[in-house]
Amino acid sequence: MNIESNLKELKDKTSNYPHTLVAVSKTKPNALIEAAFAAGQLDFGENKVQELVGKSETLPKAIKWHMIGHLQRNKVKYIAPFVHMVHSVDSIRLLQEINKQAAKHDRKINCLLQVHIAQETTKFGFDFSEINAFLDTNYVEDYPNVQISGLMGMATNTSDTNQIEKEFKSLRSLFDAHKNLSTLSMGMSSDYPLALACGSNMIRVGSAIFGARNYTQS
Ligand SMILES: *Cc1c(COP(=O)(O)O)cnc(C)c1O
Repeated sequence: MNIESNLKELKDKTSNYPHTLVAVSKTKPNALIEAAFAAGQLDFGENKVQELVGKSETLPKAIKWHMIGHLQRNKVKYIAPFVHMVHSVDSIRLLQEINKQAAKHDRKINCLLQVHIAQETTKFGFDFSEINAFLDTNYVEDYPNVQISGLMGMATNTSDTNQIEKEFKSLRSLFDAHKNLSTLSMGMSSDYPLALACGSNMIRVGSAIFGARNYTQS
């Protein structure tokens, strides 16, 4: 696994689209993250609180950590001191807790509202009407310690690219309807070229950088 050449290949393939690459390092050992960091990668994504906290304690402080997995309210306190962005805000109660814990550390935590765009019922997130209703409120004043930066979505796990494209485009149109938002997080190893073509400006890529995960460990 040559992390440096994987990153370079990814960079070459995506250079036409302004975006941030979040390297998804879940289940991967620190040595691989250090290799990516040495190659210039600064943003890393994890989906489990315990693993995220452990890695943040031992790896370079310059790393920007992204929480991309479902987050339980009672665990927000562990990541509030350092997390750079939470992609997976899927309820107002979670947002309230992030705001509360961020305040304790005198921080403003970047948050993305996760939107349910996939056909699977198992994927978390708000539906479109809930997003529109929330963004019509005075959320900037109501949540002074969070920065609602944008939206995140995961497409259906399918080989039907028309379906994936439809889902990405629908999220893009929701994003476009709200001018205060700046970040649209969509696209993973299997679908990031399509996501970027559909207007994503943040992609979350794991296996294309670090190799396939061993799911018995994750
Ligand atoms: C694991 C994960 C990714 C990355 O998946 P790959 O297929 O390895 O690129 C992206 N987003 C979320 C929310 C994930 O949990």
